Amino acid sequence: MIIQLEEKISEKDYLEVAEVVRAIGYKATEVKTQQGRYIVAIGTKDFDIRSVGQLAGVSDVHRVSDAYKLVSNKWKVDPTSVDLGDGVTIRTGGLSLMAGPCAIESEEQVRKILAHLVENGIQIMRGGVFKPRTSPYSFQGVGIEGLKMWHTLAREAGIKIVSEVLAVDQIETMHDYVDMYQVGARNAQNFSLLLELGRVNKPVLLKRGMSGTLEELLQSAEYIFSSGNERLLLCERGIRTFEKSYRNTLDLNAVPVLKEKSHLPVIVDPSHGIGVRRFVEPMALAGVVAGCDGLIFEIGEVPEKAYSDAQQTLDFKESADLIRKTRALKEIAL
Ligand code: PEP
Ligand code: MN
Repeated sequence: MIIQLEEKISEKDYLEVAEVVRAIGYKATEVKTQQGRYIVAIGTKDFDIRSVGQLAGVSDVHRVSDAYKLVSNKWKVDPTSVDLGDGVTIRTGGLSLMAGPCAIESEEQVRKILAHLVENGIQIMRGGVFKPRTSPYSFQGVGIEGLKMWHTLAREAGIKIVSEVLAVDQIETMHDYVDMYQVGARNAQNFSLLLELGRVNKPVLLKRGMSGTLEELLQSAEYIFSSGNERLLLCERGIRTFEKSYRNTLDLNAVPVLKEKSHLPVIVDPSHGIGVRRFVEPMALAGVVAGCDGLIFEIGEVPEKAYSDAQQTLDFKESADLIRKTRALKEIAL
């Protein structure tokens, strides 16, 4: 059960609501986010929800039977839009495009990609500065100095930044230089990282774990929401299956299912999803047809030279084609 509280509920009324919930036999957890105040009540007893709904300071009560509650569609009537500031909003039902290199490498690379994004009307650039690499000997990213350089150039170009945070101690270091944190597949169940991201005033793009179920993804999102941050995006980036012909299996089933289960926007990552350059465009188009609210994909001027994920990086011509076709398709698919 989710009890939505009035913003200005008095402490006395709050304690009264919590007491009534406990008296029914439910465990009450208070959740204060940047947008609202709730009590998440867990229990199984049947009771008349009006007994809670009529209490002073309560604005609404909803029964939510899912294991995840606050990210569930069962209580939130309006789908969530995520605001990155300066008029850049990821809207449910829209098509927000985010593109950039797998890893930030150099100033020249950043400048060229920014110019490509501006030319194609893209407002959000992706890129890793801390890279989660399978081998400790592979390129690990340019780190915080590289992020600062990127941030300066992106601001000049009027482009927002989404970048992966690997560890709790990077959250603060990165804070002033990103517009949205990305949680990667390898960290999808790093609960201490998720809890800390609940405390920051920046949106979070949460990727599905490589072997994560949708329920696990939603529970991870619940960790962030319940620790205070409602500005969340879910991202399908492919799962590991027995198939060896491509890097991952982009599970597009996840798109309509997540959209039915949750009010959060759903983003598709066709680059990691299939991991094969020539198949990124068809899978991006398929993502649009499946109903995603946005795409995140990897691009570079000379893909073969990328330090990481070269095999799935699109060149600027391929990127421009993908952008044009996905936008045209969205018009039809709407
Ligand atoms: C990335 O976006 O470059 C990345 C490492 O993604 P994922 O966590 O989905 O593997
Ligand atoms: Mn990558």
